[in-house]
This record gives sequence, C-alpha cells and structure tokens, in this order.
Amino acid sequence: MCEQDHVRGNGYPDGLGVRQDSGMERVRDVSELPKAHLHLHFTGSMRPGTVLELADKYGVRLPETLSEALTSGEPPRLRATDERGWFRFQRLYDAARSCIREAEDIRRLVREAAEEDVKDGSGWLEIQVDPTSYAPRLGGLIPTLEIILDAVESAARETGLGMRVLVAANRMRHPLDARTLARLAVRYADRGVVGFGLSNDERRGMARDFDRAFAIAREGGLLSAPHGGELAGPSSVRDCLDDLHATRIGHGVRAADDPRLMKRLAERGVTCEVCPASNVALGVYDKPEDVPLRTLYEAGVPLALGADDPLLFGSRLADQYELARRHHAFTDEELAELARHSIRGSAAPEDVRQKLLSGVDDWLAS
Ligand SMILES: [Zn+2]
Repeated sequence: MCEQDHVRGNGYPDGLGVRQDSGMERVRDVSELPKAHLHLHFTGSMRPGTVLELADKYGVRLPETLSEALTSGEPPRLRATDERGWFRFQRLYDAARSCIREAEDIRRLVREAAEEDVKDGSGWLEIQVDPTSYAPRLGGLIPTLEIILDAVESAARETGLGMRVLVAANRMRHPLDARTLARLAVRYADRGVVGFGLSNDERRGMARDFDRAFAIAREGGLLSAPHGGELAGPSSVRDCLDDLHATRIGHGVRAADDPRLMKRLAERGVTCEVCPASNVALGVYDKPEDVPLRTLYEAGVPLALGADDPLLFGSRLADQYELARRHHAFTDEELAELARHSIRGSAAPEDVRQKLLSGVDDWLAS
C-alpha cells in the first residue's frame, strides 16, 4: 500500500467515496491509532518477500499465480464463494505454508508478523494457528506448539507488542482431531494460548460436530472464536453461538442479513472479527463499500477489524481502518470506537487494555 497524503480532500485518489470535507483539515494517521488485532492467520501473515526467499531456500516451486502475485504485489484474483474457488484459495495457502519447514522459519514468521503489526499501531496481537500442518516436519504437535509459543514470547519481548495465540482446528478434518487440539491448547493456556478457533470452509460439516472440542477449550479457560458468517449465511453465526458458545466470531459479517441476530450479538457483546479486504478479495462482497460495516456498527455489534491473510489479500491491519474511513465514511471518533471494540474483545490483561484505551483517547485528542 502506498503512503497516503494525510490531507483530506485532495490526498486520495478519485472515486473512493471519501468524505470530501472542504479545506485542509488534518486527518489522523490510522496506523498510530492503538488497536488490537484479533484475526490474523499464521501463514497468511507472512511478508511476500519472505515466502519467496523460503521457497528459494527449499527449492519449492510455487504455483505461478502465487509467485506472480508475491513478486508484483498485486493480490491474486480469487473467488471463494463456490467450492472450487475456495479450493483454489486453499491451494495457494498450502503452497505458501509448505515453505515453512524449520523452527528458524517459524521464528522469522512470528517476528515479522509482530513487526508489521507494530507498524500498524497494534498493541496486542492474537495470531491464529493450526499446528497440525507443521507438525510432521517439526517433530509432532507438542514440539510445534512449543516452538510457536517460544517464538511468540521472543517476538513480544523484542518488539514490545503484546502477543498471544489462538489454536484453530480445521473444519475439513475429523472432529476427534479438533478435540486433540483443544486438549493441547488448554495444556498451554498458561504459556500463551488464549483461545480456540475453527477455520476453513464453513459450508463443510456442522458446527455442532465440534461442540466437544469447544467444550474442552472453554472448560480450560480459553475463549471460543470459531469462523462463521463468512462463506455461509446468518445461520452459521447462530450455530457458532448455540453449539460452540462463541464469545467471538471469525468474520460474522453475514449476520448483517438478520437484524435479530445482530441484536443478539450486540446484547451478548460477541465481537465479530471483521476482515473487509479479505471479504472483497474472496468475493464475499463485490466492493469494499458492500461490506456491511455500517450496518453492523449501527446495530451495536462489537467489531474488531482484522487482516485475515495479508499475504494473499495485499493489505494489513491499518488498511482495514483506512477502508472503513474511505468507503464507509467512518469519522475519527468512530474509528477510535472500532479500536476500542477490538481492545475490549481481546484477551489482553486489564493493564494492557487500560493502556491501549487511554492511547486511543490520546489519538483522538491529538
Ligand atoms: Zn480467517
């Protein structure tokens, strides 16, 4: 993303639907707005250059679509609204993941994800990982998770970013695998795991197939944060609430189709981890202005903007806030409120929350 001229009215390209205030009013820099990042996948967080370097190191032949996208900086054209499109997206994701082979690569990935987040004003990052795919090369599930948690601890120390892990099960695998992961996640609850997720194609399997895994996670003190309401409609969000007792929803944007559901999310204070650029990249919505940010916000649903997979979607955390400003006319007060939602929806300890929240006030006062 290019650096924007921070003067509203003449700093943006045409046709982006920015509020065209007259005069030379200063616009606050969203990358300086303190916020929490609650929806970022492990492989998807990588810098394009890092994937290219690692592919080179291990002699991995990346699919042409991916290497072209990574070299040009133009995200690949994807449309995941049908199963074939989703499969194509997963294939690119898997190719990138196959470049991570050694503990050293994991440490680099985590450190770079932390550095990118810090640049974007994040004060707290919860990164989501399914250790299963890395386990064969790293000696099994337990050593893999330990390598990841050690890497997170070092990156947090080196960058000053508060950082924790969500262990995510894969919907495409057997629910028993999810239970194994949930037990593992609970075992490491005091070493940096704060939540349990469920990812991959929502159209496959039922949320309730994973209810035991989520019960294990919840009983172990982890927050429940499954994906829902992205590829499937509002019913998938209801399933996450009813069957998995979700305290947060990965995406959840399709709840906007159902006012009663939005009311329920708002009343219960269930945060939706909304990733607008991802929604457009995957064809969930055609254009940035179609993502129902305003509808959800006005209905009182807590929203934590996230980047999902910046590697494939070409934009990071601060860009999501910029998108809300440009395409949905969020004022600085509203952007600050979104940042507060993200902080309140996080698993950050009270002192970190207070510090970030007062940073939000300072940003507004600046
Ligand atoms: Zn996701």
